[in-house]
Amino acid sequence: MRKKIVAGNWKMNLSIADGVNLVNEVISKLPSLPEQAHVIFCCPFTHLDRVSSSVNNTGNHQVHLGAQNCNDKASGAFTGEISIAMLKETGVDSVIVGHSERRQLFGEDHDFLKRKTDALVAAGMHVLFCCGEPLAVRESNKQNDYVANQLSESLFHLSAEEMMASITIAYEPIWAIGTGVTASTEQAQEMHAHIRSLLAHQFGEEIAQKISILYGGSCNAANAAELFACKDVDGGLIGGAALKSETFLPIIEAMC
Ligand code: PEP
Repeated sequence: MRKKIVAGNWKMNLSIADGVNLVNEVISKLPSLPEQAHVIFCCPFTHLDRVSSSVNNTGNHQVHLGAQNCNDKASGAFTGEISIAMLKETGVDSVIVGHSERRQLFGEDHDFLKRKTDALVAAGMHVLFCCGEPLAVRESNKQNDYVANQLSESLFHLSAEEMMASITIAYEPIWAIGTGVTASTEQAQEMHAHIRSLLAHQFGEEIAQKISILYGGSCNAANAAELFACKDVDGGLIGGAALKSETFLPIIEAMC
């Protein structure tokens, strides 16, 4: 059975104290999660150590600590960067790669994302690999080719075993991120089915059925249940609604 995942991406938000309170509150009110369900908190780097204690204290292996970025190099003169080993040391087991903000605002290209993915896979980390088209591409109905290219450039060199062990894909249409405009269930399901067919073509149907594909983009308490009910939607990557327990918990409940 495919993993179901709700991951919160805090971006550059919340003080350390607010972040720890949020995690403690979510954990204390967490619904009982089905066996295949997981919750991931993707915090700013400065928060990881403190949040790690809260996550570890639960003793719940379905609650995870995630990071929003990493470098592909092991160490060295890379001012401002963070290594995978440093993240592991704080208890991180999942890392977001290819978020549209990193692609657009920080110039991360297909090749850099591929190298980061390879380094994470080699380190036994779980990769939340983001893809998704800008509005102009959607308006010209070229979103399927756009997403196919993102996946083939940075992911499809991996082996089937590596894909299955390490990769979760998050489809995040850029026009839906932080805009309050959510993809319709039809748009989400159509793209998720397309991604799964690309996975089947590359790695075989059996593998494709085992890889989780999350939806991200203005997912909230009001729309999560219907999005997660789509056949090929296996949970969500959540931005704004992950910043408060009142808005994050109902999304976790929608996965259960
Ligand atoms: C995101 O940035 O990954 C995201 C999905 O943001 P939001 O939920 O705020 O649209």
